Amino acid sequence: MKLIDVEWIERQAAKLNLEQLRRLDAWVSDRIRQLEAADDATHEKADSERSAKKRGGNRINVQEYVRCGKEGCKCARGELHGPYTYAYWRDESGRMRSAYVGKELKQ
Ligand SMILES: [Zn+2]
Repeated sequence: MKLIDVEWIERQAAKLNLEQLRRLDAWVSDRIRQLEAADDATHEKADSERSAKKRGGNRINVQEYVRCGKEGCKCARGELHGPYTYAYWRDESGRMRSAYVGKELKQ
């Protein structure tokens, strides 16, 4: 990025009359507010991304051994299938939810 010569701008501004300086002042104030607003928007976006990540952080992966229920299967004799990974989390209404993730633990 090219370095902007602020001193040069100041030297030029020093040549301005009162009316021109007021105009410049108004422009600078507007520009500052504009940049600050853009900065705030960036922060708000980062905040919402963080809280989304936090919600994701409430999701836990659990490895479970399961019975398939088929008659005569090894699991009926106590040799369960798995481990399979299930994700558990609470949704917005506080209900516990779960989903099958896969045979391998993905964490
Ligand atoms: Zn089985």
